[in-house]
Amino acid sequence: MIIVKIGGSKGIDDAPLLDDISQLIKSGKEVLLVHGGSEETNQVAEALGHPPKFVTSVSGFESRFTDRKTLEIFTMVYCGRRNKSLVEGLQQRGINAVGLSGADGRVFEGPIKTSVKVIEDGKKKMLRGDNTGKVTKVNTELLDVLRSAGYMPVLCPPAISEEESKMMNVDGDRAAAMLAAAYGAEALVILSNVPGLLKNIDDGVDNPDNLVAEIELSSCADPYEFAKGRMKKKIMGAVEAVDSGVERVVLASANVDKPISSALNGGGTHIYRAAASAAASNAG
Ligand code: ADP
Repeated sequence: MIIVKIGGSKGIDDAPLLDDISQLIKSGKEVLLVHGGSEETNQVAEALGHPPKFVTSVSGFESRFTDRKTLEIFTMVYCGRRNKSLVEGLQQRGINAVGLSGADGRVFEGPIKTSVKVIEDGKKKMLRGDNTGKVTKVNTELLDVLRSAGYMPVLCPPAISEEESKMMNVDGDRAAAMLAAAYGAEALVILSNVPGLLKNIDDGVDNPDNLVAEIELSSCADPYEFAKGRMKKKIMGAVEAVDSGVERVVLASANVDKPISSALNGGGTHIYRAAASAAASNAG
C-alpha cells in the first residue's frame, strides 16, 4: 500500500496527483490519500473575520492556534470544500472515493491539548482554549470495511480526542505517517509546493543542488538541520513513519506530471533507514 499526503499550501494543483492516483489504482496498487487545506482555511478565516493565528511552541515547532471557532472554520474547509473537491476529481477519473475526517469512525484518535506553551516576543507564555492534539492511534476498521467493498478513503484532519471525543486539529503529515505505520505501507509520499527538503529555502526551488536527495536516518546526525517552519513537522512525520516500520518516506512536489510515480522513482527527498542486517554486514 502507498499512503499519499497532499498539502494545502498556496499553488498546489490537484490534477496531476488525481491522474496519477487513478492510474496507479487501475494498475493494481492500493493508494490511500490524506490531505491538508491550510491556505484555504486561512483565506476563509480572514473572510469570516477570525484571522488565523500561528504560534511557535517552546520546542520550536510552528502550529495553528485552534480555538473553537477556528476549529469550526477548519472543519468547514477540510471536510467540506477541499475533501469533496478531491472526491469529485477521483470520481471523475473512475475511482469510487469516499471522504472522511479523522473523527468519522474515530479513524484518527489521540490525546487533546487545550493549552499550549509558546514563545511570543521572545517570552514564554501559556495560551489556553486550544483544540489541538496528536494522532497516537489509527482505527482502521472503518477503512477496511470501505476498502473491502471497493471504496477509496480520502482522509483529513480533524481527529477525535480519545477521552472526551472532541474534535481536534492535528498535523496532517503526522496523521498520514501514523496511517502509513498502521498499514505497514511500502511508502509514504508527502507532496507539497516544494520539490522536497531544500538545503536553503531562500536559494530557490529550481536549483537541483539545493535539494537534499536522501536522508538515511542511521547515518544522519540531524535530520532537522535544514528544515524551517512547517517543514519541521514533515520531517518529524517522516522520522516517525520510518521508525514505525514504513520502508520509505518521500517528500516531493505535487506540481509535476505523475507526482507519486516520479517520487517513487527517485524524485524528491527520500527518507529511510538502511536495514539493520545490511548495516551490520557492512560494519563486519
Ligand atoms: P503543505 O501545507 O503543502 O503540507 P507546508 O506549507 O506545511 O506544506 O510545508 C511546506 C513549506 O515548508 C514550504 O512551502 C516552505 O515554505 C517550508 N519550508 C521550510 N523549510 C524548508 C526547507 N528546508 N525545504 C523546503 N521547504 C521548506
